Order: sequence, then structure tokens, then C-alpha cells
Amino acid sequence: MSSDCNFQISTLAVHGGRVPDTHAEAVVFPIFQTATFGQQEVGVTKGHSYSRVSNPTIDALEHAIGALEGTPQAVCFRTGMAAVTTLFLSTLKAGDHAIISDVIYGGTVRLFVEILKGLGVSHSSVDTSDAEAVERAVTPETRIILIETPGNPTMKLTDIAAIAGIARRHNVLLAVDNTFLTPVLQRPIELGADISVLSTTKYIEGHNSTVGGSLACHDEKLLERFRLVRKTVGAIQAPLDAWLTLRGLKTLPVRMKVHSESAATIAEWLEAHPAVARVYYPGLDSFPQKALAERQQKTFGGMLSFELKASPAQTFQAINALKLWTRAESLGGVESLVTHPATATHADIPAETRQRLGITDGLVRLSVGLEAAEDLIADLRQALDTGLNATTERKTADHEICQPAG
Ligand code: PLP
Repeated sequence: MSSDCNFQISTLAVHGGRVPDTHAEAVVFPIFQTATFGQQEVGVTKGHSYSRVSNPTIDALEHAIGALEGTPQAVCFRTGMAAVTTLFLSTLKAGDHAIISDVIYGGTVRLFVEILKGLGVSHSSVDTSDAEAVERAVTPETRIILIETPGNPTMKLTDIAAIAGIARRHNVLLAVDNTFLTPVLQRPIELGADISVLSTTKYIEGHNSTVGGSLACHDEKLLERFRLVRKTVGAIQAPLDAWLTLRGLKTLPVRMKVHSESAATIAEWLEAHPAVARVYYPGLDSFPQKALAERQQKTFGGMLSFELKASPAQTFQAINALKLWTRAESLGGVESLVTHPATATHADIPAETRQRLGITDGLVRLSVGLEAAEDLIADLRQALDTGLNATTERKTADHEICQPAG
């Protein structure tokens, strides 16, 4: 389409950036499941040489994500972490420093602690909800700030426009991990960020069928750098997964609407439940940063966390009693998932740090899927009753439950 920018987001999701199939006019762009591409003459190709460098199906996905982000063609990766890793390998060298949100996906922290530190790159984990703290953390060596908002798993928000102002003043790049909301519900680049990061594993593909990631920005030199690193480390998306992600993308705006509506209903129900101590959901009046959520998000999204007025072992009993919700890592798919961050997504973060950030042993994270909210609530109701009444028969003792799962 020639004038994508005039379309509403739901039209963009179906048609934006779509590459026509010139071979057979297929309505759905085909899967080019091939490792390599023939040359008409030595060194002359039709645009693709080898699928570690580029591939037409991956290109098609990248154009579609770019259209949704409002940027040139995005760069797509095998996983979200491959995108995050490429972001830092492309922008940092030994001696450089990065700032990351303190409440952030645990794999991002592991990347710094286990890998980048050994390569001479330092980082500060900063409460990025406090713009002054971010300003104070900037050093002459700082090259990039990565914020995650809402932060995984306590939903702590960061004011994107405020941090973009600080990044600009210090000539530092600002990247936003927008996995929880997607460009449908939050527009980091329009709020002043340089780079949008997505784990497409989650809402973008939306059906718990693939893993993937993307980086989008306006700076062509940076995009070229991302492609160079990607082909060098071999981190490109696979054609079949790109095709599935492209298919999932078409329904993203419809799905985000239902995810958000159901999550709001479930958050309100949980908050009113006598056994629930606390609910973290940006749409609740009790959420301290609700005004910021209203300012920078379209709606409040499909993710929430809560704590029970119960021991961690009883909380485990409640999670184990769920029948409709699946106990699993990940989020953003049509199936509702329940995760225990302390033993899953954030298991590698030291226990004291987790406690300080509110990622307690009793914290439960919900990814609200597309089942009827009333059915999801009925399942939560019976699971809470079971868990809280199960003081005598618990299978797991409090001291056993918070060992990392791996
Ligand atoms: N960013 C966020 C916010 C995530 O939740 C995750 C994974 O859970 C990632 C990045 C990493 O994505 P992937 O699992 O696709 O590598």
C-alpha cells in the first residue's frame, strides 16, 4: 500500500507494508522455506542470497511490523532475546555503560550479568519510574537506556517522553521494550524513543506458536548495524515462524482489545476478593501510576499480577488448582497463562533484589487470554478456595518452593 500512514491501526495490521506475491498473486504471502537463493550470474541475485542474511517471508514480516510501528522495515530475530542481544551488541563496546529499568524481564538482566559484563560493558539497574534517578545514573560512558514499561512483572511504568528528553540531552539512545503493550496500545517512537523492541513471541504472533523478536527505528544506519550483527551472529527469524507471526499480526488490534477488557474485569474481581492482598494492574484506581498509564497507553493491556493474603505454599496450592489457566512461562497468547515469576521469568535475579523490587515469592502473574472472562474468573474462584483451604495437605513446603526452575 502506498499511503499506509493514513490508515487506522486495524487496517494497518491487515494490509500495512504488505509485499505483493508477484509469482501467483497469493492473498497470503508464501513461505520461502529455503536456505539459499540462485544467482542469475555470478554475484547477481534477485535480492536475497542466503536465509541467514535475508529471506522474502522474513522481509514481508519486517515490512508489516515497520508499518505498525510507523518506521521503515523492522529487523526480525529468532527470539526476543536475540533482538535484545543484537540491540546491545550493535550499540555498545568495551568500556561503555547502559542503563536498564530495575523491573525488567529477567533474561535482559542475565545478558548483562553473565555475558556483557565479561566483555567489559557495565550497566546500572535503575528505577526508571523516577526520571531524576535516570538523570543521575547517566555517566560519560553511557550509550543507551533500555526501559520496559509496563515492567515485567509488577507493571511499574516509566514515563517514556520524560526519559526520551533525558536521553536526548545526554546524546544517549533510548530503547523501549514494548512487548507487553505492542504498538497497538503504546507508541514509544512517537513518544520520543529511538528504538522499539518487541518479543514477537508474545502478543504479536499471539497464539503461543513461535518465538521471535524485532527491532524498529527510523535511523537507517542503526538498522544496517542491526542487520550486520544479525547475519554475523546468526540470529535471524526462521521463515515458517515469520509466516506464522505475519498471520498472527493481522488480528493483533482485535486481540489487544479483548485481552485488555478481560484483564480489567479480572483485576477488579481479584481486588474485591477478600483473600487477595494486592493487585498490580495499571487500569485500577489503586494503581499509583494510573494517570501515566492513561497518558501514554491507549488501554491498560492484558497483563496483571497479584499477591494473596497467604503463605507462598498456599499460593502454590492455588496456582496448582487452576484448570482453565495453564501454568507456563510466556504471555500474550490466546490461551490464558499463569506464571510464578520468582521461580520462572525472574529466577536468576538474587532473592534480596527480587524482594526489594516487589517480585515476592507470593507474586503471581497472569496473562489474560481470549477465553470468556467469566470462565477465567470462575476458575480463579475455585482455585483460590482450594489453595486457601489446603493448609494440611500441601505437597510443597514454603522453604522448598523458590528454587530456580532453570
Ligand atoms: N521482553 C519481555 C518483556 C519479555 O517478557 C520477554 C520474554 O518473556 C522477552 C523480552 C524475551 O523474549 P523471548 O522469550 O522471545 O526471547
